[in-house]
Amino acid sequence: MGMEPAIHWFRRDLRLIDNRAAARAGQGGRPVIGLFVLDPAILGNLRTGPSRVAHLLGALAALDASIRRLGSNLVVRSGNPLEVVPAVAEEVGASLVTAVRSFEPYSRARDDALSQRLQADGRELWLSAEQLLLDPLHLPPLRTFSACRRRFQSALAEGIPGPTRPPTFLPVPALPRTEPLTAQGRGPSPAPEGSSPPGEQAAGRRLAAFISSRLERYAATRDDIAGDGTSNLSTDLHFGSLSVRTALRAALEAARDAPELAGGADRWLEQLAWRDFFGGALWHFAKLTTQEHRAEFRHLEWRGSEYALEAWRQGATGYPIVDAAMRQLRADHLIHNRCRMIVASFLVKDLHLDWRHGEAHFARELLDADLANNNGGWQWIAGTGLDAQPYFRILNPTVQGERYDPNGAYVRRWLPELRYLPDRYVHRPWDAPSPPRGYPRRIVDHAAERLVALELYRACSSQRSDSSSRPLEATPG
Ligand code: FAD
Repeated sequence: MGMEPAIHWFRRDLRLIDNRAAARAGQGGRPVIGLFVLDPAILGNLRTGPSRVAHLLGALAALDASIRRLGSNLVVRSGNPLEVVPAVAEEVGASLVTAVRSFEPYSRARDDALSQRLQADGRELWLSAEQLLLDPLHLPPLRTFSACRRRFQSALAEGIPGPTRPPTFLPVPALPRTEPLTAQGRGPSPAPEGSSPPGEQAAGRRLAAFISSRLERYAATRDDIAGDGTSNLSTDLHFGSLSVRTALRAALEAARDAPELAGGADRWLEQLAWRDFFGGALWHFAKLTTQEHRAEFRHLEWRGSEYALEAWRQGATGYPIVDAAMRQLRADHLIHNRCRMIVASFLVKDLHLDWRHGEAHFARELLDADLANNNGGWQWIAGTGLDAQPYFRILNPTVQGERYDPNGAYVRRWLPELRYLPDRYVHRPWDAPSPPRGYPRRIVDHAAERLVALELYRACSSQRSDSSSRPLEATPG
């Protein structure tokens, strides 16, 4: 009789290389079954937009192709993982199931419940900590970014172990039943964009191209909205088509071999530390998903209208940089970090709308939508999160446009109505001698709304400064 197989349950780790949990499943030459569960609770959730589902299916198809090259295939089942995973384990007689730990409240509860179910049958769920560099389970809550950054730096200084190799997969004839990859009753999904094809191989090419041609100038060009200065790896990191360790190793090695890359690498690693900061925060403060961390801002008055929310979503606010970004979001499902900050600040501080509306819209539209980073970004801008920016920092959309899109190349790309407007009016069309036809008038006046926002925040924080209102308590471990 052959050796008992183990199951590696793929979730947000859609790769074979540098997947420690998959390698663990195959330890000692044990044959591995790669399983993916199409979970209706995730796929049917309104926050899961069709473009992200399409990307997921593309990444799964790529993973399946890679496993096929190794003489096996990806086993796909749909249903509640609490039932599907134990059933497959039973079918194939596996006593070990491995997976990469995910830090979101849903995953946490699911994994706890699954672990108990498997244990009751004498099986084990083994989880690795590799979604982030740091392991939040073995760290106290890190309440400031600088505390996280210090830990991150020391972990980097200790050195990152080399990548693991793919395990040996169970040969095809012995595999359990598999289902076709579909979006499960959600209708056809749009094909993922050609410019950034999903999957591990494509992610590896994106990383290599970034390191060799853009890392050096990253610090100088990362805020250039019209340019291509950043890595565009957030979707790959979200789905785990790229392991964060592989990304970190690549930057560190490049900087070691070519000292002129050190400045860019340092800045890039700092951005990846934010990912660890928000990921760890979500593990320790699960309530962040619905609540402000800072108690003094839990009762802000949101006086914005449904009309303003719709104008924001549609990219029809009359502020070119905001509208261009919102239109790109609907078309490309990705926008630059600077644009995310500008439109988020505009929603919260100029339109006085609850950050949760913006967060939900981003969750549905963004390909890289990630609960930790999205919630972290919104609460940072709103001034309500863990180590958020002070509430009185309010981005001026006109100044931001003029600074980060100086000749208007970006807004012209997304707002053809402004194509022929002279440069000096492109971020302030209301000042042009003849305002462009077909482009909306400003729905609010930034200078006036800025003062309103300051007043709303001030009023809220002075009402709530009693000692009974505390920041969120850490989730019991
Ligand atoms: P690069 O500049 O190349 O950075 C490298 C990687 O570092 C990114 O891929 C990402 O994984 C990580 N990173 C960079 N900036 C941040 C940050 N501020 N917070 C956390 N991680 C970061 N990022 C997401 O991955 N998913 C989201 O849903 C998301 N929502 C956001 C919402 C708001 C309101 C804001 C202000 C930011 C949000 N971000 C989110 C962070 C950031 O905008 C994106 O990670 C970045 O634009 C992705 O582009 P890139 O891969 O080229 O980044």
